[in-house]
Amino acid sequence: GGRLAGKLVVMTAAGQGIGRACALRFAAEGATVWATDVNSAALEQLSAEHPTIRNRTLNVRDGEAISALAEELGPVDVLFNCVGYVHQGDIFACTQQDWELSFDLNVTSMYRTCRAFLPAMVAAGTGNILNMSSVASSIKGAPNRFVYGTTKAAVIGLTKSIAADFVGKGIRCNAICPGTIETPSLHDRMAAQGDMEKARVAFLARQPMGRLGRAEEIADLALYLASDESSFTTGQTHIIDGGWAI
Ligand code: NAD
Repeated sequence: GGRLAGKLVVMTAAGQGIGRACALRFAAEGATVWATDVNSAALEQLSAEHPTIRNRTLNVRDGEAISALAEELGPVDVLFNCVGYVHQGDIFACTQQDWELSFDLNVTSMYRTCRAFLPAMVAAGTGNILNMSSVASSIKGAPNRFVYGTTKAAVIGLTKSIAADFVGKGIRCNAICPGTIETPSLHDRMAAQGDMEKARVAFLARQPMGRLGRAEEIADLALYLASDESSFTTGQTHIIDGGWAI
């Protein structure tokens, strides 16, 4: 049983943070989850926690590896593009190399996975794509998130375009737009700012609820979107941010 009983899910960036919480939640609800990440050790640990979490080391920058996995798995019910990298700073802090890396990891990776996994979905007449965007995107300009916000806005455009092109073929495509969520990489970003406590206070100051979000709260939304409970929604930006975007 479970809310995702019988569903086959493939996802990127499952090794830690939001992706990890989602993989565990999906498996607990009956899905078979192909968890992918570049961090093989993290994937091994994750797989050990649930018998229906399979894992595959996969770099989202490697188009051939993505195509090979799509070929191997055939039609999946859910493709969850969770990968994303935060470059910190304004336009002057962003070199062309930073720009290109951010676009490759955050946007081109989703182009690659969608191109690879969509044909089997279309042939099956059903499929569901979830893309991880952010409130820092076309929804809100956040200071020092120049290229990050630009890429996450592009993820929304990609989501809506795919939704529009394939809505008549049984395919849904939605974006998840979190606010600030407690994850290992958020800790790294706070630490990188020098004074951990000061950074935490600054993050909290922009939270109307007075706290950060938890990865498990994003997993609740991702579960709804991955399941048939959300069968009438496509092409939307699902904001989950403790009121940041009010
Ligand atoms: P994270 O940054 O803590 O972890 C990212 C994972 O991606 C790691 O396991 C890492 O090994 C993997 N990864 C990095 N490069 C990769 C590559 N080339 N190929 C495959 N995997 C790779 O994760 P998080 O903070 O939970 O963020 C997950 C997603 O949610 C991202 O898209 C992020 O932009 C988005 N998001 C996060 C927050 C937040 O506050 N944490 C807010 C809004 C949106």
